[in-house]
Amino acid sequence: MSNLRFRTLAELPNKQARTVEVTEKMSTLFCSNVFSEETMKQYLTKEAYSSIMGAIKKGTKIDRTIADQVAVAMKDWAMSKGVTHYTHWFQPLTGATAEKHDSFFTPIGGGRAIERFSGSLLSQQEPDGSSFPNGGLRSTFEARGYTAWDPTSPAFIIDTTLCIPSVFISYTGETLDYKTPLLRALEAVDKAATAVCKYFDKNVTKVSSSLGWEQEYFLVDQSLYNTRPDLVLTGRTLTGHAPAKGQQLDDHYFGSIPTRAMSFMKELEIECMKLGIPITTRHNEVAPNQFEFAPMFEEANVAVDHNSLLMDLMGKVARKHGLKVLLHEKPFAGVNGSGKHNNWSLSTDTGENLLSPGKNPKKNLLFLTFFINTIKAVAEDGALIRAAIASASNDHRLGANEAPPAIISVFIGSQLSNTLDELEKVTEGKLSPQEKTDIKLNVVGKIPEILLDNTDRNRTSPFAFTGNKFEVRAVGSTANCAEPMTVLNTIMAKQLTKFKAEVDAKIAEGLKKDEAILNILRDYIKTSKHVIFEGDGYSQEWLDEAAKRGLPNLRTSAEALKLEVEPKYIDVFTSTGVLSEKEIIARNEIKIEKYCTMLDIEAQVLADISRNHIIPVAINYQNKLISNVQGLKDILSGDDYDNASREQIDLIKTISYHIAGIKKLVDQLLERKGKAYDAGDAHEVADYFCNEVKALFDPIREHVDALEMLVDDELWPLTKYRELLFTR
Ligand code: ADP
Ligand code: MG
Repeated sequence: MSNLRFRTLAELPNKQARTVEVTEKMSTLFCSNVFSEETMKQYLTKEAYSSIMGAIKKGTKIDRTIADQVAVAMKDWAMSKGVTHYTHWFQPLTGATAEKHDSFFTPIGGGRAIERFSGSLLSQQEPDGSSFPNGGLRSTFEARGYTAWDPTSPAFIIDTTLCIPSVFISYTGETLDYKTPLLRALEAVDKAATAVCKYFDKNVTKVSSSLGWEQEYFLVDQSLYNTRPDLVLTGRTLTGHAPAKGQQLDDHYFGSIPTRAMSFMKELEIECMKLGIPITTRHNEVAPNQFEFAPMFEEANVAVDHNSLLMDLMGKVARKHGLKVLLHEKPFAGVNGSGKHNNWSLSTDTGENLLSPGKNPKKNLLFLTFFINTIKAVAEDGALIRAAIASASNDHRLGANEAPPAIISVFIGSQLSNTLDELEKVTEGKLSPQEKTDIKLNVVGKIPEILLDNTDRNRTSPFAFTGNKFEVRAVGSTANCAEPMTVLNTIMAKQLTKFKAEVDAKIAEGLKKDEAILNILRDYIKTSKHVIFEGDGYSQEWLDEAAKRGLPNLRTSAEALKLEVEPKYIDVFTSTGVLSEKEIIARNEIKIEKYCTMLDIEAQVLADISRNHIIPVAINYQNKLISNVQGLKDILSGDDYDNASREQIDLIKTISYHIAGIKKLVDQLLERKGKAYDAGDAHEVADYFCNEVKALFDPIREHVDALEMLVDDELWPLTKYRELLFTR
């Protein structure tokens, strides 16, 4: 094993950066492999084009004959680019993307064949996905779910395959993927927000949700990666002593990008451009070998697809560069982990960003309406955001002083805090003309278009207002953004519907529209103030304060996932039509199962590494020391011998201590792992994995990491942190 490590380190077959030549302008490449609006205009009849645009913009249905036309056009376009196959591309709850390729090629008898693609093939495909997780929704005898075309996200080409973004549903109509609930949430928030917008502007007919994600990741050398069974099997290192130089110097952040990483990024960017993923930013992150990619924001459904696509692409491109992308939230203990900020906003078809303050009091009242409703939604149902980002891997990051805590609070900055304080003073009921003028001039009129806090916003907050959007900062780097986006848009839909009803009731009581709106907003400020926090989210004081305010602190996924099935939260999804109770329970089951499986695998891998790699090597080294001591005894005696052998004997004893520690804890780990599934119902099993199984990981690791510092470097079987993090 040791030889393998040193051989690969010395040889590092791919250490030379691969040259990537950019021969075309990015703008020329952009969308060249996408069945984009531009391409559709070229390939579709006017009728078909406007039908697709109707589906995208208004959610109208596409009828069969049109679907046939679109299918033929897509096929022609794709074949002109050398495509031979098509697939419905979807996002099952495994977390990866899925596809099943079918050929256009169709034999028609007599030794002849044609390329065929029809509306029905475009619209629906049976992927035979009986082994995707379904939380009991689809018993195996019911066989498959099916995929159905989502015309709101454009088709694209990868290699020689036409990929058709799709939803994945069971035959009984239940969702089995990430996309379907997102589409429903987007529809719900559109409906609720459009109704509220009508108070301000009758011309608004649609509100869309936007998402701009920021994807963090690590790059490690592929051959070094292959020498770490824990990285290969669990995505993170389960052992490993921190390197002498870590991120203390902060010299990596925004530093110059290492050459090999740079070639990888260049090539990835080219691939992104072709697929219409509008990547605009690339830079180093805080930790060594950690980087970030961010695109321009897009409509949420398309942005989610693009993020899933990017995560796939990253792996493929990295392979060509002899690199491995680590998307895990915490691949290295003691080194900053990776997240995926989700920047979110709502905007109208009249071109207004609803979370952007404006030039006049009217626009600002519109802004405040959406701003305060967002705060209210988070105050009421923010715990669901925590549940939506729950995973075994994200647990390592939340609350670990590098990512926001597991408590969901809102940061808004001092300027807007002041505005809310002023609004809270608004009189109940009718307003005097003087008060109206005051509010107009001194409150609503005073919100600057550009907010100062925008620049020094609080990085420790999980939900921060950043000038013209909110940023969900607790999402994990492996996550599918659809989940937090589904929750956020759903709780907004619920909240805005309630707001509309309350304002209408006030109007019916005789208040003017603006008065009614101000009255309700004032109440909301009072009842949701407790969720606003401007201080240091990493501090102990905040944990204490949040407890006093009654904000839930769901430290582990095991805790967070219990909440999803509480009646109050089930109601959020059922009342908005986003998920049925059956779907919620099934999806919750899948998440718990995934959580437990992940910890189960980690336990097994840690036990294997400890027993097969660490203990034998430690004994081997100990034997060397023992022969040394025995040798000394042959040539020395009395004090001479004592002096010469003291350190070695101490070392032999220390090694024995750690070996015994590992042995005892690993036995215990395997015993607990063996009976974990007997702990009770799914939630109890998750608790058991969290509190009994996972609890042993760190104690085992401490012994192993101590041995790493004692045992001869040449014998140590696992590639070390300094090699993984600083090989470039
Ligand atoms: P950082 O958080 O790294 O400091 P910025 O504040 O510059 O980055 O912006 C981050 C992201 O915000 C970008 O990916 C951008 O696309 C996104 N963004 C900007 N405006 C919106 C919006 N209206 N809706 C959603 N995302 C947005
Ligand atoms: Mg950010």
